[in-house]
Amino acid sequence: MTGKLIVLTGPSGVGKGTLLKALLERHPELYLSVSATTRSPRAGEVEGVHYYFYPRNRFEATIAAGELLEWAEFAGNYYGTPIAPVRSELALGKSIILEIELAGARQVAKIFPDALRIFILPPDLTTLETRIRERGTDSPEAILRRLEQARVEIAAQDEFNYQIINDDFETALADLDKLVTGV
Ligand code: 5GP
Repeated sequence: MTGKLIVLTGPSGVGKGTLLKALLERHPELYLSVSATTRSPRAGEVEGVHYYFYPRNRFEATIAAGELLEWAEFAGNYYGTPIAPVRSELALGKSIILEIELAGARQVAKIFPDALRIFILPPDLTTLETRIRERGTDSPEAILRRLEQARVEIAAQDEFNYQIINDDFETALADLDKLVTGV
């Protein structure tokens, strides 16, 4: 049995993290890739669980060593997927989910053309802006960068195999569950 590689992309604040948390509670057999980032931890974020928090020089060394499957700069920070767990989980026949932004999703599509690529959409941009602001974790400049990036990402939604609108949470979760499990 070989595992599926699943890429989940969508603008910041769209609720990917909450959807994934609920999906993993339903399907503990799925493996969620833990990314490396140079961004500072948010309150409650745990090293090795939510991210590996690297200083910039360490991140750059990791790129140079070829240890990332993909990486990108997003809103002023680096983000990347460590390649080793992806290889080992797929070899074990497990499905693995990458929650990554657009540039990274494009890199993965080249390396793994058979990956299942899913794009999560907000009901509209105003709702997205409200969600990012209410999260209260980003500076005003970071919020603007994230909104600008959201427009770019949403314009690329057709590059993905499937699009899910995260309006009603339970409906979006059910849609995601169906795509990921193939049931
Ligand atoms: P946040 O700072 O809100 O946790 O993440 C910002 C963006 O970076 C999100 O769109 C998230 O999906 C993306 N991201 C998280 N990890 C990775 C990664 O390993 N690679 C890439 N390319 N993007 C990532």
